[in-house]
Amino acid sequence: MAMTLDIARDNPNAPSVTASRPDAAQPANDQAPAAVIAPVMSEDKPPLIGLSREELADAMASIGIPEKQRRMRASQLWHWLYVRGVSDFSLMTNIAKDLRTKLAEAFSIARPEIVSELISVDGTRKWLFRFPARGAGRPVEVETVYIPEEGRGTLCVSSQVGCTLTCTFCHTGTQRMVRNLTSEEILAQVLMARDRLGDFPDTNTPQGAIVPSEGRMVTNIVMMGMGEPLYNFENVKKALLIASDGDGLSLSKRRITLSTSGVVPEIARTGDEIGCMLAISLHAVRDDLRDVLVPINKKWAIKELLDACRAYPGLSNAKRITFEYVMLKGVNDSNQDALDLVRLLKGIPAKINLIPFNPWPGSEYECSDWDRIEEFADIVNRAGYASPIRTPRGRDIFAACGQLKSASERMRKKDRDAGTAA
Ligand code: SF4
Repeated sequence: MAMTLDIARDNPNAPSVTASRPDAAQPANDQAPAAVIAPVMSEDKPPLIGLSREELADAMASIGIPEKQRRMRASQLWHWLYVRGVSDFSLMTNIAKDLRTKLAEAFSIARPEIVSELISVDGTRKWLFRFPARGAGRPVEVETVYIPEEGRGTLCVSSQVGCTLTCTFCHTGTQRMVRNLTSEEILAQVLMARDRLGDFPDTNTPQGAIVPSEGRMVTNIVMMGMGEPLYNFENVKKALLIASDGDGLSLSKRRITLSTSGVVPEIARTGDEIGCMLAISLHAVRDDLRDVLVPINKKWAIKELLDACRAYPGLSNAKRITFEYVMLKGVNDSNQDALDLVRLLKGIPAKINLIPFNPWPGSEYECSDWDRIEEFADIVNRAGYASPIRTPRGRDIFAACGQLKSASERMRKKDRDAGTAA
C-alpha cells in the first residue's frame, strides 16, 4: 500500500491538472482494475515485439513462410501488435488458424508480469514490471510511470535495470546496474501502459482513471525512467523508431524526448538516427559542483556537453533542447546560479525545467524553499526562457523524478539494513 500524502497541501502551488474519465478521481491504491488480461512473457520463445519490419520478415522465413508472402505477413503482424495492441495470436482474425498456431508455437508476443500498480492521489500511476531472465540472467524488474495532465498523458520509460551512473540526487543511482533492457522490453512498457489505460481499440479505460479528457491516453514518451538511455543506444533507438512508426503506435518524434545525463559522443547520433527531442540533466552550472551531482561530468564537462547541444541535428526554435535543473537547497539554487545558467545557455534554443527535489529515504539533499525556486524561475524567465517549475507528481507513490528504484531492490536494501540479506 502506498504511503499517502496530500499533494496539494505539500505544494500549495500545485495546479489542478487532470480531467478524469469517466468518473471522479480515486484515492491511491495498489489494486487498480485490470483493463486487459494478457498472457505473461516467458523466456522460452523469441519475441516478435521490438523487431524491425525486416527482422519480422526474417522471422517469418524461419517458420517456412514463402518469400513472396513475408512482407505482407510482417505488415499484418505489425498492425496487430502496434495498432490493435493484441498480445495473443489467436486474436489475429485475418490470419489463417493454422498459421496463428504455428506463430504461437514459435514466438512470443506476451506482456511482462505486473508486480505492482500504484495510483497516486493526483492520478499518476507507477507500474513495477517483471521481465523474464535473458540467457543466464535472472528475471528483472523496472518501473514505468504515467503522468496524466490536461491534454496530454506522458509515459516515463526505463532503459536499463539500475544505472551505472551515480548521480547523487537520484534514487536509481543507488541501485546497482543489472543489465540493459532489450528493444522488446522498452516497447513493452508502452504497450502495457496502453493496455492498462484502455488506450487500444476495443479496450476500456478503468473506472475513475485520471487521463486526458479526450484523444489518446499516452500522447508523449520521455526516456527519463531508470537508466541512461544513451548507454543502451541501439535498443533505445530501435524501440523509439518502432514507437514513432506511422503505421503502428504512431507517436510523433516531437512527442518523444530522450533525456541524457550527458553522454556527449552519442548526442549527435540521437538527432541523426532517432530524430527525437533531447533533454539534458544539467543540474549545475559549475564543473566542480556538476562533478558531484552528475559524476559523468568528470568525463564530459559542461563546455563539451553544451557544444554538443549547440550542434544537435535539427535544433531550432521549434525544436528546443530541454535542460533539467533539480532545485537543491543551498547547493545550486542561488541567484548567481540562475544568472550563470542563463549565460551558459545563451545561443541554444532551450527550455529550462526547474524540478523541485523529490526526497527519498537516505538522500542527502533537501528541496529548495518555494520562494527560492520562484525567485530563481523569475531570473530565468526574465532572460526569455520559458522555465516552468515542474509540479511534483506522484510523490506519494515514489514515482517522481529521481525516485525510481525497483521494489525488489528496496526490499533487498531493507533486508541488508536489518541484517537478513542472503
Ligand atoms: S539521474 Fe539518470 S543517469 Fe543519473 S543515476 Fe539517475 S537514472 Fe542514472
